Amino acid sequence: MPTNRTFTMIKPDAVADGFTGPIIQQIEAAGFKIIALKKVQLSSEEAGKFYAVHAERPFFQSLCDYMCSGAIIPLVLEKENAVEDFRQLIGATNPAQAAEGTIRKQFARSLESNAIHGSDSDENAAIEGAFFFTEKELA
Ligand code: ADP
Ligand code: MG
Repeated sequence: MPTNRTFTMIKPDAVADGFTGPIIQQIEAAGFKIIALKKVQLSSEEAGKFYAVHAERPFFQSLCDYMCSGAIIPLVLEKENAVEDFRQLIGATNPAQAAEGTIRKQFARSLESNAIHGSDSDENAAIEGAFFFTEKELA
């Protein structure tokens, strides 16, 4: 995946709360172009695989249960400086600490149920995009 791309998913809390539309609107208004988008529900195994980097953290099992508790909307986005700019747009992991106007500040329920994911590097954006989308879907 080119380095001007990032990967995101709208998480189960935000999908269930009816925030998919408003979140996608803010993503596009911030200048991100949607390359790929779908709606899926992860199995527990898939959630564990996606978050394998956190396998040793105390919140891992709870995070996997939450991430497979309902539908999610994964997207691949394109913009100059995509990874960094998108992390800026979504705000801090803990919505209580996220800046005013960020997506997590507006739409997240809690530290765990924090509405949206954003890749933390170009390398992980490519890996995470390929987790959900085929090469053809990303072309
Ligand atoms: P980010 O999503 O901002 O990159 P992390 O990679 O550190 O944050 O964590 C992945 C996800 O795990 C977070 O978005 C959140 O849903 C959950 N999480 C992180 N830290 C905690 C915690 N201390 N307790 C519960 N859930 C957490
Ligand atoms: Mg992370």
